[in-house]
Amino acid sequence: MALKLIDSHCHVDSEQFDPDRDAVIERALAAGVEHMVAIGSGDGPPALEAGIRLADRYPFIYATIGVHPHDASKATAETYKRLTELTAHPKVVAIGEMGLDFHYDHSPRDVQRDVFVEQMRIARDARKPIVIHTRTAWPETIALLREHWAPSKLGGILHCFSEGPREAEEALAIGFHISFAGIVTFPKATAIQEAARITPSDRLLIETDAPFLAPVPKRGKRNEPAFVVETARKLAELRGVTLEEIAETTAANWRRLCLR
Ligand SMILES: [Zn+2]
Ligand SMILES: [Zn+2]
Repeated sequence: MALKLIDSHCHVDSEQFDPDRDAVIERALAAGVEHMVAIGSGDGPPALEAGIRLADRYPFIYATIGVHPHDASKATAETYKRLTELTAHPKVVAIGEMGLDFHYDHSPRDVQRDVFVEQMRIARDARKPIVIHTRTAWPETIALLREHWAPSKLGGILHCFSEGPREAEEALAIGFHISFAGIVTFPKATAIQEAARITPSDRLLIETDAPFLAPVPKRGKRNEPAFVVETARKLAELRGVTLEEIAETTAANWRRLCLR
């Protein structure tokens, strides 16, 4: 039986794909990728439809809408109004990526917090899960999730998980799914690999975060959704199960969370 994989997080709208986007999508389908989730954060507000545009064009692509923490300072009242309207789009499966990035600090931290909390409110009203981006900001991120999101019981995805097992446990405890990306295949990523071992099989997801951080053995190249199989292969190795099992489990988890 052919593999059926879900790339739960990719930026197929990226200008890096402008020269060959259709070929990239064809290669993903040929590699067994059944669905891709096109993340809608793009270059930030006022544009919010980067993911939706792709979802409207391809039946197997779903979308998110949201403001990346990098772009938090571009968000206005108009942004929230438009985000709220777009939550009703039939192919919008989650809100995000949202969160905190204190590594780059492209937007002031207090603005990142406000925009994160506001998007959690919009997602809660829309009854959709959220997609979290967090970097060098774990204690602040988990605290905000506990306060503003956990009571909703709507769940969500810790995308491109780059913390260790303790942080994974904290996210799992408030109902999150953990999505592993190419970095779990890097030899030095032992804490992330340990997190991938201890995550319960019903909370596991995979993604590429393409075009960023391609998995081994494609490391250093432009990443693309077809490469999600390499991350699945690494998870199978770490967990002592077959590649088919990882594909089936992560696809079923994604459907349960995002196609409800
Ligand atoms: Zn991210
Ligand atoms: Zn992303």
